[in-house]
Amino acid sequence: MNELNLKDKIAVVTGGAGVICSTMAKSLAAEGVKTVILDLNQEAADKVAAEIEAEFNTKSIGVSASVLDKASLESALKQIHERLGTIDILVNGAGGNSPAATTKVEKMEGDENPDDTFFGLKIEGFDKVFDLNFKGTLLPSMVFATDMVGKKSGAIVNISSMNSYRPLTKIPAYSAAKSAVNNFTQWLAVHFAKVGIRVNAIAPGFLLTNQNRFLLIDEATGAMTPRGKKIINGTPMERYCVPEEMTGTLLYLASDLSKAVTGIIIPVDAGFSAYSGV
Ligand code: NAD
Repeated sequence: MNELNLKDKIAVVTGGAGVICSTMAKSLAAEGVKTVILDLNQEAADKVAAEIEAEFNTKSIGVSASVLDKASLESALKQIHERLGTIDILVNGAGGNSPAATTKVEKMEGDENPDDTFFGLKIEGFDKVFDLNFKGTLLPSMVFATDMVGKKSGAIVNISSMNSYRPLTKIPAYSAAKSAVNNFTQWLAVHFAKVGIRVNAIAPGFLLTNQNRFLLIDEATGAMTPRGKKIINGTPMERYCVPEEMTGTLLYLASDLSKAVTGIIIPVDAGFSAYSGV
């Protein structure tokens, strides 16, 4: 009854060469799942796949595609069919923020340079971040879930974020996109409920990774920025999370342990979302 039942399943992990998703892919491989490390960066994807095969003796392949390019995802699907088989699990992990969609000031006072505020946001930067996080979840679901409909079984796990519930200052595109990911998770869960595909999400709290290091650590001194300090003060466990802490929730959502669970978003955030700050 409490079996994970994951052995020999096939999982696609988008953004699989990244910090969180490479760890997630490894946790699936440790349970006997054959993994597809799908990433823009072929070399980095191949490296993660090779590490997985060496460490877990489970088939893993690196596939280069963009989650924003449907044709490249379709050609990835073809390659996956030829090399591994049909897909059972999709982890929509590619995502992130960019300095190009980040305001310099948190709250306007009224006398600062407009370029440092909401008014200075470049729409191209906004679009890039919004699309990567939202359309980058939608398009792989559209392409890879076709296999799951065929077998009337499958699990999609979207990677959302803490700022999907309440937006963080400075990063409106990333916040809006992750909020849209939560909404889409529920929408797709309902849409797929009768064809045996479950759709859920994980909302990680704060991890120190490439996408946010520039906001949290002062490059010159290596000290915590005021924003970094605020995060630690706002996190009841008073620390950052680490990628390995996401994997238990992933295995739960990807496996038969959560057979009747669909359309939920689970925070893995060291208590951040529970805390009012007082
Ligand atoms: P990361 O930057 O380490 O990895 C992202 C990966 O996605 C990279 O390997 C990159 O090459 C790939 N990628 C980028 N654009 C792509 C595209 N168009 N198509 C295919 N691949 C593409 O990121 P991370 O910090 O491990 O974050 C993984 C996920 O977790 C993201 O969705 C992120 O928003 C989310 N998240 C991160 C944090 C955090 O604190 N780091 C917190 C909450 C949520």
